[in-house]
Amino acid sequence: MPDSTVRTVVIVGGGTAGWMTAAAIAQALGPHVAIRLVESSEIGTVGVGEATIPHIRAFNAKLGLDEAEFMRSTQATFKLGIEFRDWGRPGDSYIHPFGAFGPDLGEIGFHQHWLRLRAEGLETSIEAFSAPIVISRLGRFAHPSADPRALLSTFSYAYHFDAGLYAAFLRRYAEERGVQRTDARVADVRLRGADGFIDAIVLDTGEQVSGDLFVDCSGFRGLLIEQALKAGYESWAHWLPCDRAVAAPCHAQEPATPLTRSTALDAGWAWRIPLQHRVGNGYVYCSDFISDEEAEATLLSRLESEPLADPRRLRFQAGRRRKQWSRNCVAIGLSSGFLEPLESTSIYLIQAAIGHLISLFPDGSWDPVDETEFNRLMELELERVRDFLILHYRATQRPGAFWDARRQMAIPDSLAYKLALFEERGAVVRYKDGLFQEPSWLAVYFGQHVSPTGFNPLSAGLPAEALRREFAGIEQAIRRQAEALQPHESYVAQLCAV
Ligand code: FAD
Repeated sequence: MPDSTVRTVVIVGGGTAGWMTAAAIAQALGPHVAIRLVESSEIGTVGVGEATIPHIRAFNAKLGLDEAEFMRSTQATFKLGIEFRDWGRPGDSYIHPFGAFGPDLGEIGFHQHWLRLRAEGLETSIEAFSAPIVISRLGRFAHPSADPRALLSTFSYAYHFDAGLYAAFLRRYAEERGVQRTDARVADVRLRGADGFIDAIVLDTGEQVSGDLFVDCSGFRGLLIEQALKAGYESWAHWLPCDRAVAAPCHAQEPATPLTRSTALDAGWAWRIPLQHRVGNGYVYCSDFISDEEAEATLLSRLESEPLADPRRLRFQAGRRRKQWSRNCVAIGLSSGFLEPLESTSIYLIQAAIGHLISLFPDGSWDPVDETEFNRLMELELERVRDFLILHYRATQRPGAFWDARRQMAIPDSLAYKLALFEERGAVVRYKDGLFQEPSWLAVYFGQHVSPTGFNPLSAGLPAEALRREFAGIEQAIRRQAEALQPHESYVAQLCAV
Protein backbone atom coordinates (compact mmCIF):
# COMPACT_ATOMS: atom_id res chain seq x y z
CA MET A 1 0.00 0.00 0.00
CA PRO A 2 1.30 3.50 -0.72
CA ASP A 3 2.29 5.07 2.54
CA SER A 4 2.62 8.74 1.65
CA THR A 5 0.15 11.54 1.11
CA VAL A 6 -1.40 11.77 -2.36
CA ARG A 7 0.77 14.34 -4.12
CA THR A 8 0.52 13.38 -7.78
CA VAL A 9 -2.70 12.97 -9.72
CA VAL A 10 -2.54 11.52 -13.21
CA ILE A 11 -5.61 11.99 -15.40
CA VAL A 12 -5.89 9.89 -18.53
CA GLY A 13 -8.12 11.56 -21.13
CA GLY A 14 -8.78 15.11 -22.26
CA GLY A 15 -12.48 15.03 -23.13
CA THR A 16 -15.11 16.90 -21.15
CA ALA A 17 -14.54 14.55 -18.19
CA GLY A 18 -10.75 14.91 -18.18
CA TRP A 19 -10.67 18.69 -18.32
CA MET A 20 -13.55 19.16 -15.87
CA THR A 21 -11.68 16.93 -13.43
CA ALA A 22 -8.36 18.70 -13.96
CA ALA A 23 -9.90 22.16 -13.55
CA ALA A 24 -11.87 21.22 -10.42
CA ILE A 25 -9.00 19.45 -8.65
CA ALA A 26 -6.61 22.30 -9.52
CA GLN A 27 -9.10 24.78 -8.09
CA ALA A 28 -9.87 22.77 -4.95
CA LEU A 29 -6.46 21.39 -4.06
CA GLY A 30 -4.22 23.90 -5.80
CA PRO A 31 -0.59 23.64 -4.82
CA HIS A 32 -1.08 20.53 -2.66
CA VAL A 33 -1.11 18.18 -5.63
CA ALA A 34 0.70 18.06 -8.96
CA ILE A 35 -1.73 17.24 -11.78
CA ARG A 36 -0.67 15.69 -15.05
CA LEU A 37 -3.20 15.07 -17.85
CA VAL A 38 -2.39 12.73 -20.72
CA GLU A 39 -4.58 12.82 -23.81
CA SER A 40 -4.17 11.62 -27.36
CA SER A 41 -5.15 14.10 -30.06
CA GLU A 42 -4.79 11.18 -32.48
CA ILE A 43 -7.58 9.26 -30.73
CA GLY A 44 -9.73 12.35 -30.12
CA THR A 45 -12.85 12.66 -28.00
CA VAL A 46 -16.41 11.36 -28.31
CA GLY A 47 -17.36 14.70 -29.87
CA VAL A 48 -21.01 14.94 -28.77
CA GLY A 49 -22.81 16.12 -25.64
CA GLU A 50 -24.20 19.61 -25.67
CA ALA A 51 -27.13 19.77 -23.28
CA THR A 52 -26.84 20.18 -19.53
CA ILE A 53 -28.98 20.55 -16.41
CA PRO A 54 -28.87 23.47 -13.94
CA HIS A 55 -26.22 21.90 -11.68
CA ILE A 56 -23.55 22.89 -14.20
CA ARG A 57 -23.92 26.45 -12.95
CA ALA A 58 -22.71 25.44 -9.48
CA PHE A 59 -19.69 23.78 -11.09
CA ASN A 60 -18.87 26.88 -13.12
CA ALA A 61 -19.44 29.13 -10.10
CA LYS A 62 -17.05 27.09 -7.99
CA LEU A 63 -14.38 27.62 -10.63
CA GLY A 64 -15.23 31.32 -10.60
CA LEU A 65 -16.13 31.41 -14.32
CA ASP A 66 -17.76 34.55 -15.66
CA GLU A 67 -21.06 33.60 -17.29
CA ALA A 68 -20.76 35.87 -20.33
CA GLU A 69 -17.18 34.81 -21.04
CA PHE A 70 -18.11 31.15 -20.65
CA MET A 71 -21.11 31.55 -22.98
CA ARG A 72 -19.07 33.39 -25.61
CA SER A 73 -16.28 30.81 -25.46
CA THR A 74 -18.57 27.80 -25.78
CA GLN A 75 -21.25 29.26 -28.13
CA ALA A 76 -23.76 28.59 -25.37
CA THR A 77 -27.47 29.28 -25.20
CA PHE A 78 -29.79 29.06 -22.21
CA LYS A 79 -31.95 26.05 -21.44
CA LEU A 80 -35.17 26.07 -19.39
CA GLY A 81 -36.08 22.44 -19.94
CA ILE A 82 -36.60 19.66 -22.47
CA GLU A 83 -39.50 19.46 -24.88
CA PHE A 84 -40.62 15.88 -25.47
CA ARG A 85 -42.48 15.43 -28.72
CA ASP A 86 -44.53 12.35 -29.61
CA TRP A 87 -43.46 10.45 -26.49
CA GLY A 88 -46.80 9.68 -24.79
CA ARG A 89 -48.72 9.47 -28.07
CA PRO A 90 -47.89 10.68 -31.59
CA GLY A 91 -48.72 14.40 -31.77
CA ASP A 92 -48.04 15.08 -28.06
CA SER A 93 -45.71 17.77 -26.79
CA TYR A 94 -44.80 18.36 -23.18
CA ILE A 95 -41.94 20.09 -21.40
CA HIS A 96 -39.85 18.85 -18.51
CA PRO A 97 -39.10 22.26 -16.95
CA PHE A 98 -36.33 23.34 -14.63
CA GLY A 99 -38.76 24.64 -12.07
CA ALA A 100 -41.85 24.05 -10.01
CA PHE A 101 -45.46 23.76 -11.14
CA GLY A 102 -47.24 26.64 -9.42
CA PRO A 103 -46.28 28.43 -6.22
CA ASP A 104 -46.23 26.76 -2.84
CA LEU A 105 -49.82 26.67 -1.53
CA GLY A 106 -49.08 25.19 1.89
CA GLU A 107 -49.01 21.66 3.25
CA ILE A 108 -49.50 19.69 0.05
CA GLY A 109 -48.09 20.05 -3.44
CA PHE A 110 -49.63 22.48 -5.93
CA HIS A 111 -50.31 19.57 -8.28
CA GLN A 112 -52.63 17.97 -5.71
CA HIS A 113 -54.90 21.02 -5.89
CA TRP A 114 -54.67 20.94 -9.67
CA LEU A 115 -55.69 17.26 -9.63
CA ARG A 116 -58.66 18.13 -7.47
CA LEU A 117 -59.77 20.99 -9.74
CA ARG A 118 -59.26 18.79 -12.77
CA ALA A 119 -61.52 16.15 -11.22
CA GLU A 120 -64.09 18.97 -10.87
CA GLY A 121 -63.82 19.96 -14.52
CA LEU A 122 -60.79 22.30 -14.85
CA GLU A 123 -59.40 21.96 -18.38
CA THR A 124 -56.23 24.04 -18.07
CA SER A 125 -53.05 22.00 -18.49
CA ILE A 126 -50.66 21.99 -15.54
CA GLU A 127 -48.08 23.49 -17.94
CA ALA A 128 -49.89 26.86 -17.73
CA PHE A 129 -48.75 27.11 -14.10
CA SER A 130 -45.06 26.62 -14.81
CA ALA A 131 -43.10 29.82 -15.51
CA PRO A 132 -40.22 28.09 -17.37
CA ILE A 133 -42.67 26.23 -19.62
CA VAL A 134 -44.64 29.34 -20.54
CA ILE A 135 -41.46 31.40 -21.04
CA SER A 136 -39.75 28.79 -23.19
CA ARG A 137 -42.80 28.06 -25.35
CA LEU A 138 -42.82 31.79 -26.12
CA GLY A 139 -39.09 31.63 -26.97
CA ARG A 140 -38.24 34.17 -24.28
CA PHE A 141 -35.69 34.22 -21.49
CA ALA A 142 -34.62 36.10 -18.37
CA HIS A 143 -32.43 35.20 -15.46
CA PRO A 144 -34.61 34.08 -12.53
CA SER A 145 -35.64 36.83 -10.13
CA ALA A 146 -33.68 37.02 -6.87
CA ASP A 147 -36.88 37.92 -4.98
CA PRO A 148 -38.22 34.62 -3.56
CA ARG A 149 -41.80 36.02 -3.58
CA ALA A 150 -41.69 36.67 -7.35
CA LEU A 151 -43.27 34.19 -9.79
CA LEU A 152 -40.16 34.55 -11.92
CA SER A 153 -38.03 33.16 -9.10
CA THR A 154 -39.66 29.72 -9.40
CA PHE A 155 -37.29 28.33 -12.00
CA SER A 156 -33.70 27.54 -12.71
CA TYR A 157 -31.79 27.23 -15.97
CA ALA A 158 -28.93 25.38 -17.63
CA TYR A 159 -27.02 25.74 -20.91
CA HIS A 160 -26.61 24.18 -24.29
CA PHE A 161 -22.96 24.45 -25.27
CA ASP A 162 -20.31 23.00 -27.53
CA ALA A 163 -18.70 20.39 -25.25
CA GLY A 164 -15.45 20.49 -27.29
CA LEU A 165 -15.18 24.24 -26.74
CA TYR A 166 -16.02 23.77 -23.07
CA ALA A 167 -13.17 21.27 -22.69
CA ALA A 168 -10.82 23.74 -24.44
CA PHE A 169 -12.02 26.55 -22.16
CA LEU A 170 -11.37 24.44 -19.06
CA ARG A 171 -8.02 23.36 -20.44
CA ARG A 172 -6.87 27.00 -20.49
CA TYR A 173 -8.22 27.39 -16.95
CA ALA A 174 -6.42 24.26 -15.71
CA GLU A 175 -3.13 25.00 -17.45
CA GLU A 176 -3.09 28.50 -15.96
CA ARG A 177 -3.29 26.77 -12.57
CA GLY A 178 -0.35 24.49 -13.20
CA VAL A 179 -1.90 21.38 -14.77
CA GLN A 180 0.67 19.78 -17.04
CA ARG A 181 -0.63 18.33 -20.30
CA THR A 182 0.99 15.66 -22.44
CA ASP A 183 -0.24 14.71 -25.88
CA ALA A 184 0.60 11.02 -26.21
CA ARG A 185 -1.05 7.64 -26.39
CA VAL A 186 -1.08 5.43 -23.32
CA ALA A 187 0.39 2.14 -24.54
CA ASP A 188 0.48 0.18 -21.29
CA VAL A 189 -0.56 0.31 -17.65
CA ARG A 190 1.86 -1.06 -15.06
CA LEU A 191 0.40 -2.56 -11.89
CA ARG A 192 2.28 -3.17 -8.64
CA GLY A 193 2.64 -6.86 -7.86
CA ALA A 194 1.89 -6.57 -4.15
CA ASP A 195 -1.53 -4.92 -4.15
CA GLY A 196 -2.54 -4.47 -7.76
CA PHE A 197 -2.47 -0.66 -7.47
CA ILE A 198 -1.53 1.26 -10.59
CA ASP A 199 2.14 2.11 -10.46
CA ALA A 200 2.57 3.96 -13.75
CA ILE A 201 1.23 4.41 -17.24
CA VAL A 202 3.57 3.89 -20.13
CA LEU A 203 3.29 6.29 -23.07
CA ASP A 204 3.99 5.48 -26.71
CA THR A 205 6.96 7.85 -26.42
CA GLY A 206 8.48 5.37 -23.94
CA GLU A 207 7.99 7.70 -20.97
CA GLN A 208 6.61 6.17 -17.77
CA VAL A 209 4.29 8.41 -15.82
CA SER A 210 3.91 7.40 -12.20
CA GLY A 211 1.42 8.84 -9.75
CA ASP A 212 -0.41 8.34 -6.47
CA LEU A 213 -3.98 8.70 -7.75
CA PHE A 214 -5.05 7.87 -11.32
CA VAL A 215 -8.26 9.24 -12.77
CA ASP A 216 -9.59 7.31 -15.74
CA CYS A 217 -11.28 9.74 -18.15
CA SER A 218 -10.41 7.68 -21.22
CA GLY A 219 -13.99 7.34 -22.46
CA PHE A 220 -15.93 4.19 -23.27
CA ARG A 221 -12.77 2.06 -23.43
CA GLY A 222 -12.08 2.44 -19.67
CA LEU A 223 -8.35 2.08 -20.22
CA LEU A 224 -7.41 1.94 -16.54
CA ILE A 225 -10.58 0.94 -14.70
CA GLU A 226 -11.55 -1.90 -17.04
CA GLN A 227 -8.68 -2.87 -19.28
CA ALA A 228 -6.12 -2.79 -16.46
CA LEU A 229 -8.15 -3.23 -13.25
CA LYS A 230 -11.05 -5.35 -14.59
CA ALA A 231 -13.71 -3.56 -12.54
CA GLY A 232 -16.54 -5.23 -14.51
CA TYR A 233 -19.65 -3.75 -16.13
CA GLU A 234 -23.27 -4.11 -15.07
CA SER A 235 -25.43 -3.88 -18.16
CA TRP A 236 -28.82 -2.17 -18.00
CA ALA A 237 -29.53 -2.88 -21.67
CA HIS A 238 -32.63 -4.94 -20.74
CA TRP A 239 -34.20 -1.70 -19.47
CA LEU A 240 -32.53 0.80 -21.77
CA PRO A 241 -31.81 -1.11 -24.99
CA CYS A 242 -30.81 1.84 -27.20
CA ASP A 243 -27.21 1.06 -28.07
CA ARG A 244 -26.25 3.39 -30.90
CA ALA A 245 -26.43 6.98 -31.99
CA VAL A 246 -25.73 8.97 -35.11
CA ALA A 247 -25.09 12.70 -34.85
CA ALA A 248 -24.80 15.59 -37.33
CA PRO A 249 -24.81 19.36 -36.76
CA CYS A 250 -26.52 21.84 -39.08
CA HIS A 251 -27.41 25.54 -39.23
CA ALA A 252 -30.59 26.69 -37.52
CA GLN A 253 -33.60 27.76 -39.54
CA GLU A 254 -35.45 29.24 -36.59
CA PRO A 255 -34.46 31.42 -33.62
CA ALA A 256 -32.76 29.44 -30.84
CA THR A 257 -35.30 28.48 -28.19
CA PRO A 258 -34.20 27.83 -24.58
CA LEU A 259 -35.21 24.17 -24.96
CA THR A 260 -33.56 20.89 -25.83
CA ARG A 261 -35.96 18.90 -28.01
CA SER A 262 -36.40 15.14 -27.89
CA THR A 263 -38.68 13.56 -30.49
CA ALA A 264 -39.68 9.91 -30.24
CA LEU A 265 -39.09 7.95 -33.46
CA ASP A 266 -39.74 4.34 -34.56
CA ALA A 267 -36.63 2.82 -32.94
CA GLY A 268 -35.57 5.44 -30.39
CA TRP A 269 -35.56 9.21 -30.32
CA ALA A 270 -33.90 12.26 -31.89
CA TRP A 271 -32.31 15.23 -30.13
CA ARG A 272 -32.20 18.83 -31.30
CA ILE A 273 -29.98 21.23 -29.37
CA PRO A 274 -29.77 24.89 -30.45
CA LEU A 275 -26.38 26.56 -29.89
CA GLN A 276 -25.37 30.05 -31.00
CA HIS A 277 -23.50 28.93 -34.12
CA ARG A 278 -25.29 25.70 -35.03
CA VAL A 279 -27.85 23.10 -34.04
CA GLY A 280 -26.75 19.72 -32.70
CA ASN A 281 -28.85 16.78 -33.92
CA GLY A 282 -28.73 13.07 -33.29
CA TYR A 283 -30.76 9.87 -33.37
CA VAL A 284 -30.37 7.50 -30.41
CA TYR A 285 -31.64 4.08 -31.48
CA CYS A 286 -31.82 0.38 -30.76
CA SER A 287 -29.91 -1.66 -33.33
CA ASP A 288 -32.37 -4.58 -33.00
CA PHE A 289 -35.03 -2.43 -34.63
CA ILE A 290 -33.24 -0.35 -37.27
CA SER A 291 -30.01 -0.58 -39.28
CA ASP A 292 -27.25 2.03 -39.00
CA GLU A 293 -27.92 3.10 -42.61
CA GLU A 294 -31.64 3.58 -42.01
CA ALA A 295 -30.98 5.49 -38.78
CA GLU A 296 -28.54 7.78 -40.55
CA ALA A 297 -30.96 8.35 -43.42
CA THR A 298 -33.74 9.13 -40.92
CA LEU A 299 -31.55 11.66 -39.12
CA LEU A 300 -30.45 13.36 -42.35
CA SER A 301 -34.04 13.53 -43.63
CA ARG A 302 -35.07 15.38 -40.47
CA LEU A 303 -32.34 18.05 -40.53
CA GLU A 304 -33.57 21.60 -41.07
CA SER A 305 -30.55 22.41 -43.30
CA GLU A 306 -27.53 20.72 -44.90
CA PRO A 307 -25.31 18.83 -42.40
CA LEU A 308 -22.15 20.74 -41.48
CA ALA A 309 -20.09 17.54 -41.12
CA ASP A 310 -20.28 13.87 -41.98
CA PRO A 311 -22.63 12.04 -39.60
CA ARG A 312 -20.80 10.57 -36.63
CA ARG A 313 -21.75 7.06 -35.48
CA LEU A 314 -21.42 5.94 -31.87
CA ARG A 315 -21.97 2.67 -30.02
CA PHE A 316 -22.63 2.17 -26.33
CA GLN A 317 -24.30 -0.03 -23.75
CA ALA A 318 -26.40 1.36 -20.91
CA GLY A 319 -24.98 0.44 -17.55
CA ARG A 320 -22.34 1.16 -15.01
CA ARG A 321 -18.89 0.07 -14.07
CA ARG A 322 -19.29 -2.26 -11.05
CA LYS A 323 -16.60 -0.28 -9.25
CA GLN A 324 -15.98 3.26 -10.28
CA TRP A 325 -13.27 3.62 -7.68
CA SER A 326 -10.95 0.62 -7.55
CA ARG A 327 -7.63 0.68 -5.67
CA ASN A 328 -5.90 3.97 -6.59
CA CYS A 329 -8.02 4.57 -9.70
CA VAL A 330 -11.28 6.53 -10.03
CA ALA A 331 -13.26 6.42 -13.29
CA ILE A 332 -15.07 9.61 -14.29
CA GLY A 333 -17.11 10.22 -17.44
CA LEU A 334 -17.88 7.61 -20.07
CA SER A 335 -15.29 5.23 -18.57
CA SER A 336 -17.55 4.91 -15.49
CA GLY A 337 -20.76 3.95 -17.27
CA PHE A 338 -23.31 5.36 -19.66
CA LEU A 339 -26.95 6.36 -19.69
CA GLU A 340 -28.41 7.65 -22.92
CA PRO A 341 -28.63 11.47 -23.09
CA LEU A 342 -32.45 11.59 -22.82
CA GLU A 343 -32.29 13.85 -19.76
CA SER A 344 -28.87 15.42 -20.45
CA THR A 345 -27.28 13.81 -17.40
CA SER A 346 -23.76 12.70 -18.45
CA ILE A 347 -22.02 15.98 -17.70
CA TYR A 348 -23.93 16.17 -14.42
CA LEU A 349 -22.67 12.67 -13.52
CA ILE A 350 -19.10 13.81 -14.25
CA GLN A 351 -19.66 16.76 -11.96
CA ALA A 352 -21.15 14.56 -9.22
CA ALA A 353 -18.20 12.15 -9.40
CA ILE A 354 -15.72 15.02 -9.17
CA GLY A 355 -17.57 16.43 -6.14
CA HIS A 356 -17.59 13.06 -4.37
CA LEU A 357 -13.91 12.50 -5.21
CA ILE A 358 -12.90 15.86 -3.81
CA SER A 359 -14.87 15.35 -0.61
CA LEU A 360 -13.43 11.82 -0.17
CA PHE A 361 -10.02 12.77 -1.52
CA PRO A 362 -7.60 9.98 -0.50
CA ASP A 363 -5.05 10.80 2.16
CA GLY A 364 -2.58 8.13 1.18
CA SER A 365 -3.77 5.52 3.68
CA TRP A 366 -6.17 4.15 1.03
CA ASP A 367 -8.73 3.12 3.60
CA PRO A 368 -11.20 0.93 1.64
CA VAL A 369 -14.10 2.76 3.29
CA ASP A 370 -13.47 5.77 1.00
CA GLU A 371 -13.68 3.57 -2.06
CA THR A 372 -16.85 1.90 -0.75
CA GLU A 373 -18.52 5.23 -0.01
CA PHE A 374 -17.66 6.73 -3.39
CA ASN A 375 -19.02 3.66 -5.16
CA ARG A 376 -22.19 3.74 -3.05
CA LEU A 377 -22.81 7.40 -3.84
CA MET A 378 -22.26 6.96 -7.55
CA GLU A 379 -24.44 3.84 -7.66
CA LEU A 380 -27.27 5.87 -6.13
CA GLU A 381 -26.77 8.72 -8.60
CA LEU A 382 -26.83 6.38 -11.57
CA GLU A 383 -29.74 4.23 -10.43
CA ARG A 384 -31.94 7.23 -9.86
CA VAL A 385 -31.23 8.67 -13.26
CA ARG A 386 -31.76 5.19 -14.74
CA ASP A 387 -35.24 4.83 -13.20
CA PHE A 388 -36.27 8.25 -14.46
CA LEU A 389 -35.15 7.40 -18.00
CA ILE A 390 -36.98 4.07 -17.93
CA LEU A 391 -40.21 5.87 -17.01
CA HIS A 392 -40.14 7.70 -20.37
CA TYR A 393 -40.12 4.37 -22.20
CA ARG A 394 -42.56 2.58 -19.96
CA ALA A 395 -45.25 5.29 -19.89
CA THR A 396 -46.01 5.44 -23.58
CA GLN A 397 -48.90 4.58 -25.83
CA ARG A 398 -46.86 4.87 -29.03
CA PRO A 399 -47.46 2.17 -31.62
CA GLY A 400 -44.68 0.03 -33.12
CA ALA A 401 -42.60 -3.02 -32.21
CA PHE A 402 -39.88 -1.07 -30.37
CA TRP A 403 -42.41 0.80 -28.21
CA ASP A 404 -44.61 -2.28 -27.57
CA ALA A 405 -41.55 -4.01 -26.12
CA ARG A 406 -40.73 -1.01 -23.90
CA ARG A 407 -44.26 -0.81 -22.56
CA GLN A 408 -44.28 -4.50 -21.69
CA MET A 409 -40.82 -4.77 -20.11
CA ALA A 410 -40.32 -5.58 -16.42
CA ILE A 411 -39.10 -2.49 -14.59
CA PRO A 412 -36.85 -2.11 -11.52
CA ASP A 413 -38.69 -2.53 -8.18
CA SER A 414 -37.64 0.99 -7.18
CA LEU A 415 -39.51 2.44 -10.18
CA ALA A 416 -42.52 0.12 -9.81
CA TYR A 417 -42.96 1.37 -6.23
CA LYS A 418 -42.78 5.02 -7.31
CA LEU A 419 -45.28 4.46 -10.09
CA ALA A 420 -47.75 2.62 -7.84
CA LEU A 421 -47.78 5.44 -5.31
CA PHE A 422 -48.29 8.07 -7.99
CA GLU A 423 -51.08 6.16 -9.71
CA GLU A 424 -52.93 5.74 -6.43
CA ARG A 425 -52.82 9.31 -5.07
CA GLY A 426 -50.52 11.47 -7.20
CA ALA A 427 -47.71 11.26 -4.65
CA VAL A 428 -44.08 11.42 -5.72
CA VAL A 429 -41.69 9.44 -3.53
CA ARG A 430 -39.07 11.86 -2.32
CA TYR A 431 -35.46 10.90 -2.73
CA LYS A 432 -32.99 12.24 -0.21
CA ASP A 433 -30.12 11.72 -2.60
CA GLY A 434 -30.08 11.67 -6.31
CA LEU A 435 -31.03 14.01 -9.00
CA PHE A 436 -34.59 14.30 -10.21
CA GLN A 437 -37.11 15.65 -7.75
CA GLU A 438 -40.88 16.09 -7.72
CA PRO A 439 -41.43 18.56 -10.60
CA SER A 440 -39.37 16.39 -12.98
CA TRP A 441 -41.39 13.26 -12.24
CA LEU A 442 -44.66 15.19 -12.46
CA ALA A 443 -43.73 16.58 -15.87
CA VAL A 444 -43.17 13.10 -17.29
CA TYR A 445 -46.15 11.51 -15.53
CA PHE A 446 -48.61 14.15 -16.69
CA GLY A 447 -46.90 14.63 -20.07
CA GLN A 448 -47.14 10.91 -20.82
CA HIS A 449 -50.68 10.33 -19.54
CA VAL A 450 -49.95 8.58 -16.24
CA SER A 451 -52.99 9.62 -14.26
CA PRO A 452 -53.61 9.07 -10.57
CA THR A 453 -57.01 7.73 -9.59
CA GLY A 454 -57.19 10.10 -6.63
CA PHE A 455 -55.58 13.12 -5.03
CA ASN A 456 -54.52 14.12 -1.56
CA PRO A 457 -57.72 14.48 0.52
CA LEU A 458 -56.30 17.58 2.26
CA SER A 459 -57.03 19.54 -0.91
CA ALA A 460 -60.76 18.91 -0.49
CA GLY A 461 -60.62 21.08 2.65
CA LEU A 462 -60.18 24.26 0.60
CA PRO A 463 -63.19 26.11 -0.85
CA ALA A 464 -63.39 25.26 -4.56
CA GLU A 465 -64.32 28.73 -5.81
CA ALA A 466 -61.43 30.47 -4.04
CA LEU A 467 -59.02 27.83 -5.34
CA ARG A 468 -60.27 28.26 -8.91
CA ARG A 469 -59.83 32.05 -8.64
CA GLU A 470 -56.31 31.61 -7.26
CA PHE A 471 -55.41 29.27 -10.12
CA ALA A 472 -56.75 31.70 -12.73
CA GLY A 473 -54.74 34.51 -11.16
CA ILE A 474 -51.51 32.48 -11.20
CA GLU A 475 -52.03 31.48 -14.81
CA GLN A 476 -52.62 35.07 -15.92
CA ALA A 477 -49.70 36.45 -13.93
CA ILE A 478 -47.25 33.92 -15.40
CA ARG A 479 -48.45 34.62 -18.94
CA ARG A 480 -48.35 38.39 -18.52
CA GLN A 481 -44.85 38.34 -17.03
CA ALA A 482 -43.53 35.85 -19.59
CA GLU A 483 -44.87 37.92 -22.50
CA ALA A 484 -42.99 40.96 -21.19
CA LEU A 485 -39.62 39.17 -21.42
CA GLN A 486 -37.04 39.56 -24.16
CA PRO A 487 -36.69 36.95 -26.94
CA HIS A 488 -34.12 34.35 -25.89
CA GLU A 489 -31.88 34.85 -28.92
CA SER A 490 -31.47 38.60 -28.45
CA TYR A 491 -30.98 38.12 -24.69
CA VAL A 492 -28.06 35.77 -25.43
CA ALA A 493 -26.62 38.10 -28.09
CA GLN A 494 -26.78 41.06 -25.72
CA LEU A 495 -25.14 39.14 -22.88
CA CYS A 496 -22.35 37.82 -25.10
CA ALA A 497 -21.63 41.15 -26.84
CA VAL A 498 -18.08 42.15 -25.92
P1 FAD B 1 -14.23 11.18 -24.37
O1 FAD B 1 -14.78 12.42 -24.91
O2 FAD B 1 -14.33 9.94 -25.23
O3 FAD B 1 -12.69 11.44 -24.05
C1 FAD B 1 -11.78 10.39 -23.86
C2 FAD B 1 -10.37 10.95 -23.80
O4 FAD B 1 -9.47 9.90 -23.51
C3 FAD B 1 -9.90 11.60 -25.10
O5 FAD B 1 -9.14 12.74 -24.82
C4 FAD B 1 -9.01 10.52 -25.69
O6 FAD B 1 -8.03 11.05 -26.54
C5 FAD B 1 -8.39 9.94 -24.43
N1 FAD B 1 -7.85 8.61 -24.61
C6 FAD B 1 -8.52 7.47 -24.86
N2 FAD B 1 -7.64 6.43 -24.99
C7 FAD B 1 -6.41 6.97 -24.79
C8 FAD B 1 -5.08 6.45 -24.82
N3 FAD B 1 -4.82 5.14 -25.07
N4 FAD B 1 -4.05 7.29 -24.59
C9 FAD B 1 -4.26 8.61 -24.34
N5 FAD B 1 -5.48 9.16 -24.32
C10 FAD B 1 -6.54 8.34 -24.55
N6 FAD B 1 -23.72 14.46 -22.06
C11 FAD B 1 -24.46 15.48 -21.63
O7 FAD B 1 -24.30 15.93 -20.50
N7 FAD B 1 -25.41 16.04 -22.44
C12 FAD B 1 -25.67 15.55 -23.67
O8 FAD B 1 -26.51 16.10 -24.38
C13 FAD B 1 -24.95 14.43 -24.12
N8 FAD B 1 -25.20 13.85 -25.32
C14 FAD B 1 -24.54 12.72 -25.67
C15 FAD B 1 -24.89 12.03 -26.83
C16 FAD B 1 -24.28 10.82 -27.15
C17 FAD B 1 -24.71 10.05 -28.36
C18 FAD B 1 -23.23 10.31 -26.34
C19 FAD B 1 -22.52 9.05 -26.69
C20 FAD B 1 -22.87 11.01 -25.21
C21 FAD B 1 -23.52 12.19 -24.85
N9 FAD B 1 -23.20 12.85 -23.69
C22 FAD B 1 -23.94 13.92 -23.27
C23 FAD B 1 -22.09 12.40 -22.90
C24 FAD B 1 -20.91 13.29 -23.10
O9 FAD B 1 -20.58 13.39 -24.45
C25 FAD B 1 -19.76 12.71 -22.33
O10 FAD B 1 -20.17 12.40 -21.04
C26 FAD B 1 -18.66 13.67 -22.18
O11 FAD B 1 -18.30 14.22 -23.39
C27 FAD B 1 -17.50 13.02 -21.50
O12 FAD B 1 -16.78 12.19 -22.33
P2 FAD B 1 -15.42 11.66 -21.76
O13 FAD B 1 -14.54 12.82 -21.50
O14 FAD B 1 -15.68 10.71 -20.67
O15 FAD B 1 -14.85 10.76 -22.96
